[in-house]
Order: sequence, then structure tokens, then C-alpha cells
Amino acid sequence: MTNDYPPIKDFIESSFLDWPGHTCAVIFLPYCNLRCPYCHNHQLVLKPDTMETLFLETILERLTALRHKIDGICITGGEPTIHRGLPAMLKIFHEAGFGIKLDTNGTQPDILQYLITEGLVDCVAMDVKAPLDDTIYARCAGVFVPMSIIKRSIEVLAAADVPTIFRCTVTPTLLAESDVYLLAKGLNDLRTEGLVGQDTAMSLTLQNFDPANPMEPALKDVKPFTEKNLSRMQEQINRILG
Ligand code: SF4
Repeated sequence: MTNDYPPIKDFIESSFLDWPGHTCAVIFLPYCNLRCPYCHNHQLVLKPDTMETLFLETILERLTALRHKIDGICITGGEPTIHRGLPAMLKIFHEAGFGIKLDTNGTQPDILQYLITEGLVDCVAMDVKAPLDDTIYARCAGVFVPMSIIKRSIEVLAAADVPTIFRCTVTPTLLAESDVYLLAKGLNDLRTEGLVGQDTAMSLTLQNFDPANPMEPALKDVKPFTEKNLSRMQEQINRILG
């Protein structure tokens, strides 16, 4: 193995939650180009050197032993697409016979396009942090993100022939309920703008904020939305996106 593969910082052998409809292993890659205040993986983002690096050979051996229990691998982070060696790593997993689900923040549309074109991913979940507005997006991502990049990633995924999942983590002090509807409307408008086909099905799944261990310590005191409120918001979003 060469040093070109991204370092693996954590590994879960079996998860029912990370790839809907699948039982998958989960592989965590370090570093991220965003600084979302609610991020609960911030050790992986900010201090990955304090975490052990796992050998790819060892992971492959475990995956082979787990083959009867899992039907895929979820690659998450951090942000996997910032690693130049990601395609080579995905190729190894694919050649070993595993399907791949990729989690991404959607800031590397050209990489996403490449991975899809090369057939290296079987499902992609993209976190859309906020309405497609520079100011609100920067508040939720912790850094400025050009909206052209986010829109391009959505365009790439909407046109892809692999299942895609758009998700948004809702943190009450960062996103008002009205912002969530603005995001759904913005996604819908991409159809009008021609970036997404008129008949392309799009959905947005809300995820509740978890105050247990956020990157921004002040958020520990923030109460998440109630499940009832979250369900109501999800229903409204489903209506907006048709
Ligand atoms: S939540 Fe934000 S900062 Fe954390 S890994 Fe995801 S994109 Fe990066």
C-alpha cells in the first residue's frame, strides 16, 4: 500500500443507520474544509493527529471477515472528498466487492462528478447546510462557501444515476424554521433555473442537532427542536419539494 491513500482514523464494523436499507461498515477520514459549529466529529476535523491511524490492510482483512454481515461501506469524515487518494481507496473497496456510500459536504463538485463517472460510488449523501444564501450558509458552515459550488454539486448529484440523499442538520440558533423552508424552496427553484431536471425527484431529510459534543462549546446549551416540530418541518419540506 502507498501513502497516497487517505489515512483511516476510525472504523465501525456494522451500522444500520448510515446507509438506508443497508448494513454497512463505516470508515472515517480526517480533516474538513468547513467548520460547522454543530459538528460532533470535531476531533476528526481539528485534531486528527491525536487519533490513531488504522492500516488499510487491517481494515480490508476485517471487511473480508465481515462480508457475511455487511453489504457495503460508508465513507465519511471529516470530508472525504478533500483527499486526493480517495478514488484509489474507493477502487480498492469496490474491487474487494463492496458497495460504497459516500458522505460529503458538497464542496468538491468536480471530484463528485469524477467518482460518479468512474462508477466508484453507489450512493451519495450530501449535507446541504442552509438556504442557498451566502450569509446564512457561512453561519452554518463556519466559513464562506460560494453558492455556485453547492449548486453545482446538487446539479451533479441530481443528474447522477446513483441514489442521492440530501440532508440538513437543523440547529435552532443557526437555522430558523423559516430558513429551512427557504432551503427547500431554493432546491425547488433549481428546477426552474434548469440546474435540475423538471421531473427529477428531490428530497431533503432533516437531522436534529445533537448538543452532546458540538465544535462550538456554546451550542451545548441549545435545546434541539422537539421531534414533533421536526416532523412538522419535514412534512412541509416534502410538500414544497413535491
Ligand atoms: S459537520 Fe461540517 S465541519 Fe463537521 S465534518 Fe461535516 S462538513 Fe466538516
